[in-house]
Amino acid sequence: MKVLLIYHHPSTRTLLEELSGTFNYELYCCPDHLNAQTTYTNQSFDVMIVETTDREYAWRPAVKDLQKCPPAPFLIMIGKGSEEEMTAALNLGAAAFLATPVRPQLLSMVFSQMMKRIELESQVQEAQRRAARIQKELEQSLERQKEAIAEKDLTYRELLLAYSRLQELNQQKNNFLAMATHELRTPVTVMKGYHRILLDERLGKLQPQQKEVLLESEQSCSRLIRIINSLLDLSRIEAGKLELIYQENDFINNVKMVIKQTKEACKRKQLSLVLKLSKGIRRFRYDRDKVNQVLTHLLENSIKYTPPGGKVYVSVQPYFWERRSADAAAGLKPQKEQRHQLEERTNHSSNAIMVQVTDTGIGISPEHQQEIFDEFTQVSSNQMNRSGLGLGLTISKRIIEAHGGKIWVDSRLNSGSKFIFLLPLSPSETSPGINEIRS
Ligand code: ADP
Repeated sequence: MKVLLIYHHPSTRTLLEELSGTFNYELYCCPDHLNAQTTYTNQSFDVMIVETTDREYAWRPAVKDLQKCPPAPFLIMIGKGSEEEMTAALNLGAAAFLATPVRPQLLSMVFSQMMKRIELESQVQEAQRRAARIQKELEQSLERQKEAIAEKDLTYRELLLAYSRLQELNQQKNNFLAMATHELRTPVTVMKGYHRILLDERLGKLQPQQKEVLLESEQSCSRLIRIINSLLDLSRIEAGKLELIYQENDFINNVKMVIKQTKEACKRKQLSLVLKLSKGIRRFRYDRDKVNQVLTHLLENSIKYTPPGGKVYVSVQPYFWERRSADAAAGLKPQKEQRHQLEERTNHSSNAIMVQVTDTGIGISPEHQQEIFDEFTQVSSNQMNRSGLGLGLTISKRIIEAHGGKIWVDSRLNSGSKFIFLLPLSPSETSPGINEIRS
């Protein structure tokens, strides 16, 4: 701490020299204010002690000058204590006024008070400096955040652009797919027709070998037509043009008809086909062809993915479907405990039918059970009869959901699969993008 003393009486100087040890300050002394002004004007002091003279307060401008150098020192005035002196001290902002002769204890008290104030002020200054530092850091961080937000905004806009471009490309792809498949279907159907004419020997007798080759060729045509139809279905679904034709139908009769069509394939593969149809399923409104398409596809898959000697079961039963909207929207399959209750629920008054197509085939691993319903998904580990496109289950799911129903799989690798779907007896909702025709 630096203390400047402008003194008049040598005793004052002696007193302050004595106190410097106690309060640990450097003392700068000057016996006259003019001398002090010229020597110390540009230096800063923590405390300035000014002893007044009788001479017309000529010391005042000098003190004012010395107070200018920041930080302004604490001013202690020593004088006789006349009213004019006191007023001048107040005007100069003096922190204390001591009357002569100065009592050492009083000066000590003033000094210790001063020390406390200086200490406090330096703490306040330090706090202010810290606050200013924090504010600066905050401003910088705010600036960085603004930049990051601007960057994100840019990325978001770029993403939006890319997304709309993708949608455009997807639309172009769909249009192309729809056009190409449509164009392909006619010649392949014609080819299939000619095969039939030849196979029926309407244009002349065939050698057994010729018949065999033609039959194989006809089957290839049928496979190609199925693939083309799947692609057409998919492009219609994606364009929101899949139409459901609701008509009141006998579901059990339909199932029997589909089963009849697949019996031959089961026989060829030495698979036994077991049918369990519950009684009491009333006629209800649904799109017969579309639901038959689902049933046929599930059955064909079961036949395809079950080794010879295995079994395929089909069961249809009335079902009380306690709909949970979130569950339906997420397309989640029922929890295990819920599944245990399936049988029980069928005893209540039904509002849906439950169809199960079960096989003893190769099964599907848990990690593939959700994705097989995604388009063009075929399980890579499953090399058995990979003749499809991985679209059948996607289309089946969309058809069932368009009816307000739900489809899922329950399977274990190497132990077989069970595909289950629920169809509401009176569908109240249809999926967006599906056109519904009620007749
Ligand atoms: P694809 O017409 O190519 O068979 P799907 O959409 O019908 O396509 O089926 C997708 C995949 O699901 C199939 O490639 C197959 O791996 C698996 N899958 C479907 N049904 C069965 C089943 N019954 N048993 C085992 N795997 C099956």
